Amino acid sequence: MFKIAKYPDPILRKTAKPISDFNDELKKMASDMAEVMYEDDGIGLAAPQVSKSLRLIVIGLGHGDFKTYVNPEITFFSKEKTKTDEGCLSLPKIFGDVIRPKKIHVKYYDLDGQVHKEKLKGIDSVILQHEVDHLNGILFIDRVEKINQGQELLDALKKQLDEQAK
Ligand SMILES: [Zn+2]
Repeated sequence: MFKIAKYPDPILRKTAKPISDFNDELKKMASDMAEVMYEDDGIGLAAPQVSKSLRLIVIGLGHGDFKTYVNPEITFFSKEKTKTDEGCLSLPKIFGDVIRPKKIHVKYYDLDGQVHKEKLKGIDSVILQHEVDHLNGILFIDRVEKINQGQELLDALKKQLDEQAK
C-alpha cells in the first residue's frame, strides 16, 4: 500500500510528468491511490502525494468509488472567486482559507485513454484545482490567505525545510 508523502518531502515540489501508457499498471496505481485516500479520509489525491511524479489524480465519489483524471489541463478559470477552508493529506492538521476561481473547464483522459471535457463549479472545482496544483509542485500553503489551524506546526515544518537547505 502507498504511503502519503508529507511536507516538506521534495517530491511534492517537482513538476509531474505526463502519462503516455494507459496500461494495467496505471489502473492499479489509480485504485491503490484511491485506497490510501479513503484510508486517510481524503477527498482527492494526486500521484506526487504517493511519491509518483506523474500527472494522475483520483477524486473520491463516496463509498469507495473514485474518478480518475489523467493529464488534466484546466482550460478556463472564471473571474468569479470562491473562498474555502482547505486542508491536505500531505500537510496533516493544517487548514487555511484559499481563494480560487469559482468555475473551471477541464480537459483530461480517463484510464482507457479517452479524452473528456468537463465544467466544474463549487467544491468540485476547488478540489480539482488543489489536486492539479500538486502536479505542478504547488501546495495550498503557497496560496493561503489565512491559516485557520496549525500555524505553529506549519512554522516548525518550514523551519525544518530551512535547516535541510543549509
Ligand atoms: Zn493536497
